[in-house]
Amino acid sequence: MVRKAVGNPSIIHIFGDTTLEFPQTYEYIARFRKENRKTPVLKAVNSEQDFLSLCEIFGPPSRTLRWCCNMFKTGFISERIRGTFQNSKTKNKEEEEIEKKKKILTFYGVRRSESASRNHYERESIGKKISKQMVASPIIDWFDHDIWLYLLTTGIDFNEAYRLGYSRVGCWCCPNNSRWSQFLAEIYMSEQSKSFHDILYNFAVKMGKSDPEEYVASGGWKARQGGAGIDLSKKVAIEFKPCAADAESFSYVLNKLITEELYEFFKPFGILNFDMGNSRLGEVYILDAKTKQPIIKLQGRQGLNELRITILGRPIAKRTKTVEIELKFKCQITKYQLCAGCHACETVCPYNAIRLFKIGEGDTDYQYVIDEGKCEHCSACINHYMGGCYMRRVLLPRGKGYSENE
Ligand code: SF4
Ligand code: SF4
Ligand code: SF4
Repeated sequence: MVRKAVGNPSIIHIFGDTTLEFPQTYEYIARFRKENRKTPVLKAVNSEQDFLSLCEIFGPPSRTLRWCCNMFKTGFISERIRGTFQNSKTKNKEEEEIEKKKKILTFYGVRRSESASRNHYERESIGKKISKQMVASPIIDWFDHDIWLYLLTTGIDFNEAYRLGYSRVGCWCCPNNSRWSQFLAEIYMSEQSKSFHDILYNFAVKMGKSDPEEYVASGGWKARQGGAGIDLSKKVAIEFKPCAADAESFSYVLNKLITEELYEFFKPFGILNFDMGNSRLGEVYILDAKTKQPIIKLQGRQGLNELRITILGRPIAKRTKTVEIELKFKCQITKYQLCAGCHACETVCPYNAIRLFKIGEGDTDYQYVIDEGKCEHCSACINHYMGGCYMRRVLLPRGKGYSENE
């Protein structure tokens, strides 16, 4: 419809392959490519991580903990958009500024009648998950029958999975799928469904569910909240030692030894200065990006796990209250301890300053890097999601004192 409306067949299409697609979806994409040679179809896929292995690390996704959307969809679509539309050959500061502010107009097929939450979507909006996007949803008020009448009367090709009885075609094992879709998946994706069932069952056993089979069959796993039963959730905790002498200093015992990577997580607060402090004591100052005055002092030697942070000036991350600033410190420390490479941070940074590099064989072996030349200290990566880290929300045991405002 967009190609028809603008009279241009070369509108770029992006196929976000979550790796959890039906075979019919791949067939449909292949047909679409063949029949629409003038239309570029790009693929965005996470070929670094494996969904089923990650289910064992993070627990299976649930309706409220859809970590796989970041890891297998949003992060890589964002990367595709960045790689396709970003002009890396900017000549001067002015061009750089224009590039930083550039938005990519994207058309979605999302509709309000699809779900209660989508009912509140806007027809035009700035991308919530992918900050580079400006989103237009031209068929937002269409109902299912509008879609089918349009497809059938115009003879447009569609995904054959709909002929199997699905009313929505997405990931075959999504926690948002209906029981009917689940039933169909057991028939048409029987092998994969069996593996997924085993993961759900083993997870239920690990969580100590009295009737694991019932937990799986009744869809109890879809309502899971928090990281109970997940080993990685231990990394969320930070031991805090109050400092009686100085209300503006906070001492933490990290559960990961201090390395250079820790400082990456403090770049959003300001400009790192390694020369002002005593390097033997591991002192690093952070200067306000505008005034160049010190606002934070870090004290922690590499190879040890004790970190002391002192507030020297404010605002910090757009906050002035000590209690709020301290939460931001905790948020960044947590990210240092548990970053599992979910790519959520990358997608929220409006200036493309965050990069996650795969550094090992493990599904969660990632290095978090912030490009100082690009970081505008906008705080989006600290303030987005609860406490700035999507996986913290997934892993934090429920009822352990987190608040959506953190
Ligand atoms: S299974 Fe559901 S939650 Fe996970 S990526 Fe697919 S659509 Fe998102
Ligand atoms: S810090 Fe958290 S939100 Fe950011 S990429 Fe790592 S796991 Fe994802
Ligand atoms: S979102 Fe990007 S630009 Fe903003 S503070 Fe974080 S890294 Fe810097």
